[in-house]
Amino acid sequence: MRAPDPFHYPDEPHVRRHGPQGYTHYRQYREWLRDEFRFRCVFCLAREQWGQVKSLFDIDHFQPRVLRPDLVVDYDNLLYACRTCNSGKSSALVPDLHGCAYGRCLRVHDDGTIHPLNPEGRILIDELDLDDSQRNVFRKLIITTVQLAAKHGQQDLLELYMGLPSNLPARSEKTASRRQFAAGGSPHVMARAAGARRSA
Ligand SMILES: [Zn+2]
Repeated sequence: MRAPDPFHYPDEPHVRRHGPQGYTHYRQYREWLRDEFRFRCVFCLAREQWGQVKSLFDIDHFQPRVLRPDLVVDYDNLLYACRTCNSGKSSALVPDLHGCAYGRCLRVHDDGTIHPLNPEGRILIDELDLDDSQRNVFRKLIITTVQLAAKHGQQDLLELYMGLPSNLPARSEKTASRRQFAAGGSPHVMARAAGARRSA
């Protein structure tokens, strides 16, 4: 069984699939953002399943609040990020994942180390402290576990690490979306479209 790569960054720039609007506080977009970014941190690719979600994941303002207070509740300015990346980024400006594919900026090797592929990758690593020694060890732990699970055909373990979380967003609509979805605009379009339990 070929092992999935838990730290393969997207090969294409991100295109928003959801477009909710009308909320008064940015935290109210959380469920949409979880689905939008496949239940993982956009910067380090840590997945919800690998930790305690409520304490470890946050909402990041791509354009920092201090610089663009007009975008504080603008969905397109919000990212789903782990608390470590969110606090590390703080008010820094980093390459926009809508404008450049992080997969062309960053590469993670099997030993857990991360390397820049271009100047944008260098900025991401430096601003987000992605090359921190503890993060390298953590990546190696996850990579090794996933590879061993695949090697021994342990599907349950693979699902645990690479599948979707059990607490998918509720299907109830809270607000109208300005974009149309084949599945009707529910927050977890991605989750249902996946069919199988595994996310990309
Ligand atoms: Zn992160």
